[in-house]
Amino acid sequence: MEPHKHCHICGTSIPTEENLCSEKCKDEYDKLLKKRRNRVYLIYALMAVFLALVLFQMYGG
Ligand SMILES: [Zn+2]
Repeated sequence: MEPHKHCHICGTSIPTEENLCSEKCKDEYDKLLKKRRNRVYLIYALMAVFLALVLFQMYGG
């Protein structure tokens, strides 16, 4: 069996030097990454707010 990988989007077998099988899947993957990155920023923002509130409670009273 030839060494191969699978497209991250649709699961098609692809050469090992590739990550995705087509331009369409590359577009989809870009969208997915952007969405994921936005969510990470959102989580960081929420954590910062939470930390600020905790610090405020500890030192503000
Ligand atoms: Zn694909």
